[in-house]
Amino acid sequence: MNYVSTRDPEKKPVNSARAIATGLCPDGGLYMPEKLPTFRLNDFISLMGKTYPERAALILSSYLEDYTYDELLEDAKAAYAEEKFGPHPAPVTALSDMHVLELWHGPTCAFKDMALQLMPRLFVRALRKCEEGREALILVATSGDTGKAALEGYRDVPGTKISVFYPTDGVSRMQKLQMQTQQGSNVSVHGIRGNFDDAQTGVKMIFADQKMKTELDKKGVFFSSANSINWGRLVPQIVYYVSAYVDMVKCGSIQMGESVDVCVPTGNFGDIFAAYLAKRSGLPIGKLICASNKNRVLTDFFESGTYDRTRPFYATVSPSMDILISSNIERLLYLVAGPERTAEYMEKLRTEGKYTLCEKDFEAIRREFVGFTTGEEQTKATIKEVFASEQYLIDTHTAVAVHAAKEYLAAEGAKRKLLTVSTASAYKFASDVLDALESGASADDVLSALSEKTGTPVPAPLADLTKKPVRFGEAIASAEMPDAVRAFADQ
Ligand SMILES: *Cc1c(COP(=O)(O)O)cnc(C)c1O
Repeated sequence: MNYVSTRDPEKKPVNSARAIATGLCPDGGLYMPEKLPTFRLNDFISLMGKTYPERAALILSSYLEDYTYDELLEDAKAAYAEEKFGPHPAPVTALSDMHVLELWHGPTCAFKDMALQLMPRLFVRALRKCEEGREALILVATSGDTGKAALEGYRDVPGTKISVFYPTDGVSRMQKLQMQTQQGSNVSVHGIRGNFDDAQTGVKMIFADQKMKTELDKKGVFFSSANSINWGRLVPQIVYYVSAYVDMVKCGSIQMGESVDVCVPTGNFGDIFAAYLAKRSGLPIGKLICASNKNRVLTDFFESGTYDRTRPFYATVSPSMDILISSNIERLLYLVAGPERTAEYMEKLRTEGKYTLCEKDFEAIRREFVGFTTGEEQTKATIKEVFASEQYLIDTHTAVAVHAAKEYLAAEGAKRKLLTVSTASAYKFASDVLDALESGASADDVLSALSEKTGTPVPAPLADLTKKPVRFGEAIASAEMPDAVRAFADQ
């Protein structure tokens, strides 16, 4: 299978290893498979008796044709090992009105681990397959969770270095502490004075800086990305939708072939786009419900057909979704509109900060997606309500989705079973979750307080964070990012 740029009508295809090694296409577009694989119900049936790593290797081998099944199985087994994820990396829990896919059992307690424990392994293999002798410098802009998960995934991986930038006042205390205390000999972490989009724009500018590229090339270093603009980051996310579907069949919640609706708390549009890819490859998914927080650029997009990033940016209690430029929308546009119109839309976004879909494209997207917004108070009320009625503890991001799912059910009725994606452990956002459960509650040790209040255990990776030394305490201006990267490359 070949990979092409979302913006290139001439389709100069590369193989999957090259797409993963490179990250962003040379023309600024994102890599997409030229043709998506298709699965049949029999393929899903055959996954029922398999472990998660086996399911992953089987599914991934149809997207990544220049990786062997054995390579993928070896990588998936190492990535989703029980020591890191517990007995099931992506279990499904049934609540009274919906099912919940829990994606936060990994080493950093957020769903990013699902992709970022596997991606570095795919990436290192990609470098070997492409006979790339240079060292890779992975640049990451993060709204919190990606940074930590990428640092954990790439730390001490030979042939790589990783440099992470996050908005210094735009992440939770726990997220900041996780990054500032990061271990490993090949890591660099900077807070920047600005929001996530400033960090992402800064990284994109470094990627586009030809002078710097040449400079680093002379030193035997090249840039790559770990953001969900990289196909290697996106493709592992397809697996858990298939796995969850198979598990829902296995436990009798649905019949094989029955459609389920999927509701995803969304920021950069990577997670929900993976669900859409799974659907395009044959997984029986009905509607895709895109849940946003107060930064409702996507809700407005699905309602009006206009993507407009020229609006105020809000810092919310679900910071990993505080995004105004959802990069993976570009891949959706490519699938519905083709490369020419995608390039036009993206050029409009760059120059005017907005674009409006033509009627045909808007219709095609509206058939598949519906957007909902959950405000700050609704987010907190949902945490409280779900805990009170189901004794089920959810974090702020998951609450955005659960509220959206409930609104969808209220509007549409329960036409199909509904699967809501849970993206973080409540402990990662402990102070806001505690405040939601008991308004005004505060404690010196919020983790213990939350544990006592709910009778749930503090996840081990978060429990001893405050005892670790801070290695990366400083914040810089976004204009200083290129110099920080140069200095790190020289280390
Ligand atoms: C990253 C993240 C999201 C948003 O996922 P996207 O793929 O960026 O849409 C939602 N919740 C949490 C906890 C996250 O870390």
